[in-house]
Amino acid sequence: MFEFQVEAASGAARTGTLTLPHGTVETPAFMPVGTQGTVRALSPADLKAVGATMVLANTYHLHVRPGEDVVARLGGLHRFMAWDRPLLTDSGGFQVFSLAGFRRVDDDGVEFQSHVDGGRRTLTPERATEIQWTLGADIAMAFDHVAPGAADLATSRDALERTLRWLERCARRHQALSDGRTGGRTDGPASTDRPSALPPIRQTLWPILQGGTHRALREEGLQRILEMGSWTGLAVGGLSVGEPKAKMYEVLERLEPRLPGPLPRYLMGVGFPEDLVAAVERGVDLFDCVAPTRNGRNGSAFTPQGQLNIRNAAFRTDEGPLDPACDCETCTTYSRGYLRHLFVADELLGLRLLSLHNVRYLIRLAEQMRAAIRKGDGALPAWADDWRRRYSQPGIA
Ligand SMILES: [Zn+2]
Repeated sequence: MFEFQVEAASGAARTGTLTLPHGTVETPAFMPVGTQGTVRALSPADLKAVGATMVLANTYHLHVRPGEDVVARLGGLHRFMAWDRPLLTDSGGFQVFSLAGFRRVDDDGVEFQSHVDGGRRTLTPERATEIQWTLGADIAMAFDHVAPGAADLATSRDALERTLRWLERCARRHQALSDGRTGGRTDGPASTDRPSALPPIRQTLWPILQGGTHRALREEGLQRILEMGSWTGLAVGGLSVGEPKAKMYEVLERLEPRLPGPLPRYLMGVGFPEDLVAAVERGVDLFDCVAPTRNGRNGSAFTPQGQLNIRNAAFRTDEGPLDPACDCETCTTYSRGYLRHLFVADELLGLRLLSLHNVRYLIRLAEQMRAAIRKGDGALPAWADDWRRRYSQPGIA
């Protein structure tokens, strides 16, 4: 369990299989984001139809509503959201630092104001670990201090040091929970009120590397994380948070030769199609991003020629599919003219159909890159050059 097998490589890019308690994930892979235990507008059947193998859920959101205890009472997160394939929960760190309710950070944890009821709450490394354990995803993430993308050296150093101290506490807590030595939480009665008929939780914990865009910090952080324990995966956080794209690519490029080959590499919060391609070329295996569903709900669709806005009047009588190259329900069933009508008329079906297509688009992109990497002999660089030439073509949107 929690194994990762690299199967083929082309330069820094590779394909592999990640084996988890709820199934396997072929990489490179894109994870749709189910913020509140649901990928907006898409059902688990929709997600399976577009080839999603792993979904991300947000610990912060599920903690404030409905609460992890409610999820546990209803059978754990897999059963709660009726998703029987692998799940990953983030640690809540990104949300508590980026949402308006952020109040205060010290070494113990983060104080924030719930966006649901306004109540003051504290999230510590131990609580973030316990909440994720109670939710029961296959992969839990360590609680990290996220600094803004353009943070200076001192701020990034401070965030990195705190993240490393917190990682030790997360790992200790996660080990104790895995060993069954302790109950659900540190600040009250044991609360993992999970129906006893359910199988025991099997979960792994992944560390998050911070360090902003500072090369020396990233390298030092990586070294210290690897010295801290034997992990089953590694996440790169604190990128795609406002820094220039070229900076993000540079950080990945510099980091890649130092990353242990056998560990799956997860680039958090990325991304848009061009970022997925660039990051796979730089050795990344896993991605998540709200862009496909958020853009889809706004009427913006990914296509091989770039993004298009379906509300555009040019599509009023367009009989063609949204993306002629795509095999999803939206593209094989409906015309652009009909999809435009749904958005102009504010019909709910439009939100579902564009979200479905955009998620399929990113999953297909990952599939295409897997196929190119397997071909070997420079097939991926050739595929990527061709893809970029088409994608940057102006005029369609
Ligand atoms: Zn489609």
